[in-house]
Amino acid sequence: MNVDHQREVLRRNLRAVEERLRAACTRAGRKREEITLVAVTKAVSAETAALWPGLGVLDLGEGRPQELWHKAALLPAVRWHMVGHLQRNKVERTLPLTALCHSVDSARLAQAVDAEAMKAGRVAEVFLEVNVSREASKHGFAPEEMACLGDSINALKNVHISGLMTMAPEGVDARPTFAGLRELRDRLLREWGRPLPHLSMGMSDDFETAVEEGATHVRVGSVLHEGID
Ligand SMILES: *Cc1c(COP(=O)(O)O)cnc(C)c1O
Repeated sequence: MNVDHQREVLRRNLRAVEERLRAACTRAGRKREEITLVAVTKAVSAETAALWPGLGVLDLGEGRPQELWHKAALLPAVRWHMVGHLQRNKVERTLPLTALCHSVDSARLAQAVDAEAMKAGRVAEVFLEVNVSREASKHGFAPEEMACLGDSINALKNVHISGLMTMAPEGVDARPTFAGLRELRDRLLREWGRPLPHLSMGMSDDFETAVEEGATHVRVGSVLHEGID
C-alpha cells in the first residue's frame, strides 16, 4: 500500500473518529478541546505512524517501551504517551522520550520515575493506572489502595501526578468502570487535598462512553488504523 493511499485511509478514519468524538461531546455538554486524542500506533509501522503529524495528530501512544524507543527515535517531534506496563529497568531509557506516562501502576515504579526525573533535572508528568474493574489480568492500583498512597506518592518531588488512567473490561458495558474512575478522582480530591484534572480512559470500542463519563484523554488504536496493512 503506497504512502498516499495510506494517508487517505488515515484521514478518512480520523474524520470518522472526530465526528464520533464531537457527537459524544455534544451529548455530554462538553467541548472537543477538553479531550486529547492519543493515536495508539502499536499495530502499525513507524512509517505509518509518521503520517499522523501531517494530519494534525501530534499525540501518539505506545504500549511497549521497546516499540516507543524505536518509533520515538524516528519521530522525535511528537508527544509520545507511554500507555502500557513500564518495567522499572526500562524507566531510564523511556522517560526522556515520553511526554506523559499514563500507566504508573505501583509505588515502586513511581519512585523509579521520580529518581530518574531528578537525575534529568525535570518533573515528570504521570497518571496513575487504577484497576477499577479488579481483573487479575490487569495492572494498576486497587481503588481502595489509593487513599493511603496519598502521603508517600505525593511526597515525590520530581513526579507530578495529574490524572488517573483505567481500562474497561472486554465485552461488558464500560460505563460503570469509567464512572468509577471519575468518582475515585472526586474522592481523592477530598482525601489527598489536591485535584487530578485528567482522566485517561476509552479505546476504540468505548471512547464515546468515556467522553460522556469525563475522559480528558482517549487512547484510540484500531479504529484509526483500520484498513492499513
Ligand atoms: C492497545 C491499547 C489501546 C488502544 O486500543 P484499541 O482498542 O486498538 O483502540 C489503548 N490503551 C492501551 C493501554 C492499549 O494497550
